[in-house]
Amino acid sequence: MKDVMTRALLFDGAASITVWNITQAAQQGARLHGMSDDAAEVYGKLLSVTAYMSAGLKADTDKLTVIMEGDGKLGRAVACGAAGAKVRGYVSEPLARLRAGETQAAMLGSGFISVIKDLGLQQPYRGWGEIVKGDVTGDFAGYFMLSEQTPTALSLACRFQNGRCAVCGGAAAAPLPGCKEEHLVVLEDIMRNFTDAEAALAGAEPRELIEEHFGHFAPAYLPDVYPAYECTCSRARSAGMIRALGAKEARSVLAENGRIEVKCEFCGKKYVFNAQDIDKLFAEENK
Ligand SMILES: [Zn+2]
Repeated sequence: MKDVMTRALLFDGAASITVWNITQAAQQGARLHGMSDDAAEVYGKLLSVTAYMSAGLKADTDKLTVIMEGDGKLGRAVACGAAGAKVRGYVSEPLARLRAGETQAAMLGSGFISVIKDLGLQQPYRGWGEIVKGDVTGDFAGYFMLSEQTPTALSLACRFQNGRCAVCGGAAAAPLPGCKEEHLVVLEDIMRNFTDAEAALAGAEPRELIEEHFGHFAPAYLPDVYPAYECTCSRARSAGMIRALGAKEARSVLAENGRIEVKCEFCGKKYVFNAQDIDKLFAEENK
């Protein structure tokens, strides 16, 4: 099945329902980082919620960064999203595994969720949440409720087996301005049928699932979004990072290693700059 995110408005625009499948994006990300299945299942859920949050970004320059900073086996997990649900991410311990009897809580530990939305305004938006529930879904539901004041009924699913992503995606029902309490109750009630998002997403397209569960509310569909794993790194960006180091620091690294290597944490790509490249980079400042 192709990665797709289907969104619809309910109750004359007072609420939204979003269902998405990002199995291929999760597979690509996990493979890039050589992840264990256990690590990939947490990572996939993080990519999944990041895709959901970034689908609403409008400008090409808008971006959001979601960080799970827990003290569990996985260490730090980072995902970035751009308009159109384009995502990328990494974790500090991609080989982490659960022992028999351990749950995902051992991967996450306890700690904080941090969300930074850069929408081209003077100050980026910053939101905070806690890692307390021992599963990504519960912690992000808490984040939406407390930090964004949006009580979202959220369901995330990600299953890896032998390095292959069987399914990754999710469903979210959220109130919009004008949503009445009774609508919220109905949404939460229907979303309870979605607790097994894994089975639901493995067996049907997002649009079919919305029809099945919400069809009787005559959902008003928005254009589909096509999530994908996309890295935005480039040689020019890496050059910018070296420039930000300053000529003195850059030359000292160069003197030590004979070259400067910038490795992208998101996709593993290496950008190498030799003495000549560095001279060129700082030529302007030497004048
Ligand atoms: Zn990259």
